[in-house]
Amino acid sequence: MQDLTMLNESQQDAVKCVDGPVLILAGAGSGKTKTITSRLAYLLSLGIPPANTLTLTFTNKAASEMRERAMAMIEEHTYPPLLCTFHKFGLLFLKFHIEKIGRKNSFVVIDTDDKKRILKSFSTSTELPTGMIASEISRYKTSLIDPKVAWEKAEQKSYQVIAKIYEQYEDYLESNNLVDFDDLLVLPYKILESDDALCEEVSHRYQYIMVDEYQDTNELQYKLLRKLCFTHNNLCVVGDDDQSIYGWRGANIKNILEFHESFDNVKIVKLEKNYRSTTQILKAANDLIEHNRGRIGKVLESTKGDGKAIEVMDSHDENQEAHSIAKRIKKLILSGVSPNEIAVLYRINALSRSLEEGLNKEQIPYNMVGGVKFYERAEVKDVISYLRVIANPHDDFSIKRIINRPKRGLGKVTIERMIKSAYDNRQSIYEYITCNESAIEKEATKKASLALKEFVQNIAYIRSIQENSTYDMIDAIEESFAIKEYYNNQPDSLERISNIDEFYGLFRDYVKQNPQMNVDDFLNELALQSDQDQIDSENISIMSIHASKGLEFEYLFVIGLEEGFFPLIGDGSDIEEERRLGYVAITRAKQELTLSFSASRFYKGRRTELTKSRFLKEAGVCEGSLIFEKTTSFKKGDLVKHKIFGIGRVTEISKVGREFKLQINFSGTRRDILASFVEKI
Ligand code: ATP
Ligand code: MG
Repeated sequence: MQDLTMLNESQQDAVKCVDGPVLILAGAGSGKTKTITSRLAYLLSLGIPPANTLTLTFTNKAASEMRERAMAMIEEHTYPPLLCTFHKFGLLFLKFHIEKIGRKNSFVVIDTDDKKRILKSFSTSTELPTGMIASEISRYKTSLIDPKVAWEKAEQKSYQVIAKIYEQYEDYLESNNLVDFDDLLVLPYKILESDDALCEEVSHRYQYIMVDEYQDTNELQYKLLRKLCFTHNNLCVVGDDDQSIYGWRGANIKNILEFHESFDNVKIVKLEKNYRSTTQILKAANDLIEHNRGRIGKVLESTKGDGKAIEVMDSHDENQEAHSIAKRIKKLILSGVSPNEIAVLYRINALSRSLEEGLNKEQIPYNMVGGVKFYERAEVKDVISYLRVIANPHDDFSIKRIINRPKRGLGKVTIERMIKSAYDNRQSIYEYITCNESAIEKEATKKASLALKEFVQNIAYIRSIQENSTYDMIDAIEESFAIKEYYNNQPDSLERISNIDEFYGLFRDYVKQNPQMNVDDFLNELALQSDQDQIDSENISIMSIHASKGLEFEYLFVIGLEEGFFPLIGDGSDIEEERRLGYVAITRAKQELTLSFSASRFYKGRRTELTKSRFLKEAGVCEGSLIFEKTTSFKKGDLVKHKIFGIGRVTEISKVGREFKLQINFSGTRRDILASFVEKI
């Protein structure tokens, strides 16, 4: 039996309660993740087969950390338990079951960047930003609204345009056998929904289900979970309502708040001891979050002693801020602190630029989590597209990217004509080039048709190599297509070539470590890489607060504590969610926390004077400007100015916690806005 003595009583209680629904609702650093990891080890020690468990987390990094910890606790098992993200689970599920909805299981998972490219090609006649179209389509998909219904619901012209693009996009995915991130959840749900027998079978298979960071699940994930556990309800979820930070992406906090009503006989476990942060850090976090209204309210006591006072750093501007932080980090490292115990967090990615400069000047190597991701760099994307075409030559989307890269002397017109002919012939581009040699000779110049012929022959050749040795494939790709040579003549060639080499290295490594996997598997793993996967164990980390979820660092810096930056104020911003982000940020710190404020920043082309974030005051770490006092001075009929919505008139005033909410009429549209977000004019 598993030794549980390293856990406290409540944690042990949660671990031992293996049957029926369990909710562990507790604050940051109280050992929620540790508890479900131990619970998994405990289940296995009871003799429950690993294959009958399913543990879901938010990021691959969290999953692999948990796997490591759980495996360290248990004896060798021949079959490791399935511990992964929701999306990875969806992917595995689709590999087995996508044929049930008439699709082939050789599908390719596209990433956000691919998705935007596809949408761009359908949105040439609209001015709507692609990002907005992408997120609206995602919202439809995760709400299980199909294009037809979206069209019927669309009243405004812009939504009609989006519904049409949505329809084209879905057709495109289906005909190219592509799957986007949303599909990884939507399609499994649809398959289970329409097949009771399968649903029962799957539910029998996963007898014990656990979910970490449950507060950030969305409605669809909830529905999927219900399907997965419908024969047994052995579902243990852990989370913290105060750390719900994905509301903007559709996470539904009701999932956790109403868990005890959604299931019968829920056992609720509270964990009230914090094992991560010092008393001072924890107090600041608790003081801050107490300003939110919509919360359950929890007790959290530190076990780490009082610790050092939180430091508030003042700077004139972002350069001075970056310089001071870099100096401090350098000092820490010189005093023997391991760089991986240090992190800098920011609310918005744009703040990383000055920080990076500061770190570079002090020659402090860092890993940036998020930002322009390695796999989204053009040269890496090219190589990925080659691999995709080798795995599936009928992947038109990827062929289009590489057909003339490196340059093969194909003109734009030739390419477009050929794509159209392939389409008219109902063939993939690859098929069309392979089977219609004489037609191509007529359509294209001699040089171009020869180049196309060579291109498909090379693909076929590499496919034949791949059958024998995936490992040797890379050399063959370089030999045939000379991708590195192509980049030799481009700007930033050194960096690009080293990125390609790094990618080749990763691929070879993967093949070595997973001899039974094929190129498809590798590509799908790549598509699922999440921000946190880029943390390197030897460097300091810099990342957005969103990416820092679940992590902990001995020395933590949070920059940009200014009104407008953090809390971020703008269209659709939600002050309570901002505060929860503040809570997440502060509670990542174990020993020392520095909160940094800069009196001005250069942002969007100009320098702006800034005032201290209200969060500094709310967390009790400094007497900031008294923002709330001015809010009481509004009355009905006042004219006010908002940064985004412009000028409007106050029509209602109500009190929300310690703040005032104004209803404002902006030329006919009424909006509810917190008083501190507008100025009286
Ligand atoms: P978050 O809300 O940030 O996800 P969490 O509740 O998941 O935090 P963990 O990451 O599991 O918390 O634990 C926080 C830290 O406390 C870890 O370093 C963990 O090893 C330690 N810890 C958890 N429980 C105990 C315990 N009973 N005794 C000693 N240390 C513990
Ligand atoms: Mg956790």
